Amino acid sequence: MLTKITDHIYQKAVPLPNNPLREINVYFVTGEKNLMIDTGFNRPECEAALQEAIAELGIKEFDIFITHLHSDHCGLISKFSQAGNCLLTGETEGELINFEAGNLYWNMLDDLFIKYGFPKANFGRNTDIHPGRKYCNAGRVDFTYVKEGDILQYGGYTLQAITTPGHTPGHMCLYDAENKILFCGDHILGTITPNICIELGVENPLQDYLNSLAKIEKLDVSLLLTAHGTMVSDMYARIQELYQHHEARLQEVLSILTNEWKTAYMVAQDMTWEIMCKDWESFPAPQKWFATGEAISHLQYLYFLGKILKEERNGIYYYKKAEDIKG
Ligand SMILES: [Zn+2]
Repeated sequence: MLTKITDHIYQKAVPLPNNPLREINVYFVTGEKNLMIDTGFNRPECEAALQEAIAELGIKEFDIFITHLHSDHCGLISKFSQAGNCLLTGETEGELINFEAGNLYWNMLDDLFIKYGFPKANFGRNTDIHPGRKYCNAGRVDFTYVKEGDILQYGGYTLQAITTPGHTPGHMCLYDAENKILFCGDHILGTITPNICIELGVENPLQDYLNSLAKIEKLDVSLLLTAHGTMVSDMYARIQELYQHHEARLQEVLSILTNEWKTAYMVAQDMTWEIMCKDWESFPAPQKWFATGEAISHLQYLYFLGKILKEERNGIYYYKKAEDIKG
């Protein structure tokens, strides 16, 4: 279904089959020039839904803006590239999207997760069914890079690019100050908490994320357009909930750590997860992966705060409580 949000702004709920996210909200800003914001996975169901929206809107040419590198946001960018259209994203994300199209990225990500204790035995299986890997964009994209503060003009809106690293290293939002509209990608979501995961080249993603929330909190926003789930009526209240969620998570991670060295993978097993599985072993492999990523981001945050210790042993990172060593 194509929903009109306000003048010249439409939302299409694009299905993400067999994925817990269920749908991605793709936005269209229409006018003399048209813009599509994000694309869905590289799979036929997403492509068909977008074709339907494009036909319904009666638009032929459009530029595409990608909020971030995840495949549910950029998977179809090559398929929807047309002669002369602008494929817009931030440089950090653009470089990673092009890198993601090859095996090296995924192998490096595998190696990174192994360093954080993810068992190698589960690996092939895990990455084979990693949705991001399976449905990523195919082929190199010739992006036009957008920098912080750059202005994009579509449908009478003045959309300012704002970098909001955290969910991914170079995540970007688009903000129209006059109309108080923010296209926020996965930076803020209503029904679920955005996953904060480790990425190549990132040390402290949760700190980045909290800084980006504080940055967005300063903006005057009355219409928040998120990439998944239902509308968020009060962005400021939602930001407070997100702060509280991560504070509670940090406390939980601290309570799990003892005076014995544990990997992020071990910590993830003891954290509470909203998933209908009887135990950790019955978690689907991608969920183990995302859970480990969340554990890493919270452990790294605590480590950089000096609250916990980190040590590398035989190529694997371990953490433990700081006070147990001091005494
Ligand atoms: Zn995402």
